[in-house]
Amino acid sequence: MSDIAQYSDRANAWLQSVAGEFGSVSRKGLNESEDLALGRRYLKARFDAGYAGINWPVEFGGQGMTHIEKVAFETEEMKYGMPTSYFGISLGMPVPIMMKFCQDKAFVRERVLKAMQGEEIWCQLFSEPAAGSDLAGLRLRAEQDGNGWKLNGQKLWTSYAQYADYGVIVARTDPSAQKHKGLTYFWVDMKAPGVTVRPIKLAGGDSHVNEVFFDDVRIDDSHRLSPVGGGFAVAMATLMIERYVATDSAGFGPHLDLFVSLAKDLRLGGKPAIQDGRIRSALARNYAMRNSLDAITARAMMMMRAGMDPGPEGSLNKLVSVRSRQKLSELAIDLQGTDALLFDEHAPTQDNWQTSWINAPTGRIAGGADEMLLNTIAEKILGLPQDYRPDKGVPFNQIPS
Ligand SMILES: Cc1cc2nc3c(=O)[nH]c(=O)nc-3n(C[C@H](O)[C@H](O)[C@H](O)COP(=O)(O)OP(=O)(O)OC[C@H]3O[C@@H](n4cnc5c(N)ncnc54)[C@H](O)[C@@H]3O)c2cc1C
Repeated sequence: MSDIAQYSDRANAWLQSVAGEFGSVSRKGLNESEDLALGRRYLKARFDAGYAGINWPVEFGGQGMTHIEKVAFETEEMKYGMPTSYFGISLGMPVPIMMKFCQDKAFVRERVLKAMQGEEIWCQLFSEPAAGSDLAGLRLRAEQDGNGWKLNGQKLWTSYAQYADYGVIVARTDPSAQKHKGLTYFWVDMKAPGVTVRPIKLAGGDSHVNEVFFDDVRIDDSHRLSPVGGGFAVAMATLMIERYVATDSAGFGPHLDLFVSLAKDLRLGGKPAIQDGRIRSALARNYAMRNSLDAITARAMMMMRAGMDPGPEGSLNKLVSVRSRQKLSELAIDLQGTDALLFDEHAPTQDNWQTSWINAPTGRIAGGADEMLLNTIAEKILGLPQDYRPDKGVPFNQIPS
């Protein structure tokens, strides 16, 4: 048995031992603040067991292992429905960026330890009403103010900003420069005067994304994590920091065995639905597709073990898995007829067809919208020419809005 397989087995044994206390069964019926509190306790237990900061440097309280052990742990953890979503972005991007770019190492070490144990949460303030896929189109201004900066403007879709203690933010510092060149990257205290967070209710009923307003928010120059005008490179580094994350060929929705059970239980044309040719064909198609995605993931893991970088084919994973999850969930809902109208907005996406379906569109946008992934596939895998970019080289304040 390989070292990684042994590591996964050990991680799985620990996860099993705590699943009763923190896993999906114990979360049923909790409201969001109770679930978050449970999540904080789970992170503390995970830290004490040596499974926090798996690939982070020991000097910051991490385990000093490789990215492979981290993905191996997350792959096992995903099976138990632990309350980790509140901390996913925080530990995934802002905290590693602070470790890499913040010069005040003592401050960072304290933040990292608190974030790993669930005591503090960081958010990522990139997107705005007119800047998402086109991140460099952002408008929130940072103007020099004495020895620091003053922030004014709005961010949008900021996950878990309502619980965040700190955030990383990209702001426009020079509107007369080309759009990628006039940006600067900072960290901000989310409790500072002038920061207002307003949760947005999504179609599925939850409110984990927010509008965040900045009105004359004063930050010290020591909060700057990039050269002035060099923020876009750090923003890209943030988005690329995780070369490969644990993926799920079910698109983080229900697995096929749940669909098989449903099709066995329900009747279609007087017979169990599982005997219907259309249902069998949908099952076979999804089975083949999910196995192909698993093969891409297995290949990426093998490449990482061999010290290589996985290729851009990883972008196929999210594109195909979330789309197929949406279609399969729709079919499951159709099969259930009017019974499908019973909608429990707190039911976990992994084992509920309704929440899986209603939340699928956000999955097709967050972390790279479908069309952007198609662009990546076209340009990086198929070698097709770049998208038409009429604003290339034009000063930001001369781009028609
Ligand atoms: C659940 C959720 C959580 C999120 N959390 C965060 C967060 O924590 N922090 C944060 O900063 N942001 C967050 N986002 C925002 C997310 O990054 C953006 O929604 C995403 O980048 C898309 O940007 P947009 O919403 O502005 O849509 P747009 O970029 O305006 O896209 C609209 C449509 O146009 C298409 N499109 C855009 N450009 C092109 C092109 N060049 N070619 C072809 N089609 C194109 C898109 O694919 C899409 O279908 C979150 C979003 C969601 C849904």
